[in-house]
Amino acid sequence: MLTYIAHWLEKRYDLTPDRTAIQLKDRTKITFRQLRKDSIEMAERLKGIGISSYDHVALLSKNSYEMVTIIHALTYLQATVVLLNTRLTSKELLFQYENSESCFLIFQDDLKGKGEEIEKQHADEMFCFSTVNQQEQVSFSIPAEIALDDTFTIIYTSGTTGFPKGVQLTYGNHYWSASSSALNLGLYENDRWLAMVPLFHVSGLSILVRSLLYGMPVHLHESFHVEDAQREIMEEGVTIVSVVSVMLEQLMADLHEKSYPETLRCMLLGGGPAPKPLLESCKEKNIPVFQSYGMTETSSQIITLSSQDALKKLGSAGKPLFPAQLRIEQENGINQPYEVGEILVKGPMVTKGYFKREDANEKSFDQDWLKTGDLGYLDEEGYLYVVDRRKDLIISGGENVYPAEIESVLKEIEGVQDAGVVGIEDDKWGQVPVAFVVRRENQSVTSGRILEHIQTQLASYKMPKRIYFVKSLPRNASKKLLRTTLLEWTKGIHNYDED
Ligand code: ATP
Ligand code: MG
Repeated sequence: MLTYIAHWLEKRYDLTPDRTAIQLKDRTKITFRQLRKDSIEMAERLKGIGISSYDHVALLSKNSYEMVTIIHALTYLQATVVLLNTRLTSKELLFQYENSESCFLIFQDDLKGKGEEIEKQHADEMFCFSTVNQQEQVSFSIPAEIALDDTFTIIYTSGTTGFPKGVQLTYGNHYWSASSSALNLGLYENDRWLAMVPLFHVSGLSILVRSLLYGMPVHLHESFHVEDAQREIMEEGVTIVSVVSVMLEQLMADLHEKSYPETLRCMLLGGGPAPKPLLESCKEKNIPVFQSYGMTETSSQIITLSSQDALKKLGSAGKPLFPAQLRIEQENGINQPYEVGEILVKGPMVTKGYFKREDANEKSFDQDWLKTGDLGYLDEEGYLYVVDRRKDLIISGGENVYPAEIESVLKEIEGVQDAGVVGIEDDKWGQVPVAFVVRRENQSVTSGRILEHIQTQLASYKMPKRIYFVKSLPRNASKKLLRTTLLEWTKGIHNYDED
């Protein structure tokens, strides 16, 4: 059964037209009234280029106010937004464009080159922002409501474990995600959320939806710059910041004060595992870090650890948000605390499925439960600890070895900037771990020193059998470590840059 809600920007405009919706880096403030006006005008221009309801419209842009108005404009036209990652190559973009069955590509002018491959085959479907802005406006009747079952966005997974998959997220998924986040983090009159993560990822896009539901300003930046982030927190009163661990690491390294002002009430950390030393240094500086676990398929966080629990549950990703459920499925069927198994999640923020990927849908769902492909365990109080991806598990002499655990210990070593671990075949043990290490600039850490440290921290079967020093690690467009490439390096399929 379809459920309808009032169109969210119309509703927000009706309730609080003069509140700030967006604050830009140069401190320009845009009210919800202005945002609505600009989005409707944008919709009229997009209508002018021929976009109609249920079209799939690909959007290729860095964070910008125009991008925000296009996203809202497409909701007015009842079209689906396919958000493309600007860091992808032209070929990868072509794949996602075609795979999502998009019929238009709207792109930021300076990203024209990225559309090169799409242009070869779909030139007449491509419109840059400035062309759209010159388009004649065609009026349309503003929809009063939104069908929660309609697909709002298609966003591709990062492609860390295989080929990226197009995740369909409905308005309902986004609505539940935003409301569940508020039930957990609370909602304060002075809330303002700093968005330096890309809007083409759910982490960024979900901030825009929260802004509509809560009537809350979003401080929108094109990208992450440590000085700008510090200024926003110290001087502009942002209360919540979405970060991934590399951003938080940079903020901590640059924070010369004892802590942040009290206005900062939540540093929402997601996107991947958080190194323990980082969490500890945040703890020392009294930074209210909320660790979270989520994925494109769950419209952003689905499991979150509150800052009150952060101290006693360091390293945990927390508990499921109010309407969500979590289950660990063990292969041996033993269902007890600390037993590692696959993490399954269920809730109204979970996708209805991948677009045109019946094979993946069949593999990834057990009725309404999403099989995340991640391994984890619960402690006796039901707090989740994410261990690693199931695909990357190393079984050595019958023991489970999780590369992420070894990587985290490697990164504790002074002089180690980055580390990646994979398993290689071994006659005696079946598989053994090997490590790729990037040294910090001008630091000469040796394998001996590294192994010495690991010995004090990990069981001997977790000790890497080889350490390769490299200049950098392979990462995808979302900056996630590509262990598949590390495996190819071990097999000599591709050469790596030795240090
Ligand atoms: P693909 O599905 O194509 O392989 P991806 O899983 O990297 O790509 P995303 O949806 O961007 O694509 O990332 C979600 C994944 O990030 C999770 O499944 C998990 O592996 C990892 N992740 C997210 N939060 C955490 C966390 N708190 N701890 C550990 N890993 C996390
Ligand atoms: Mg995934």
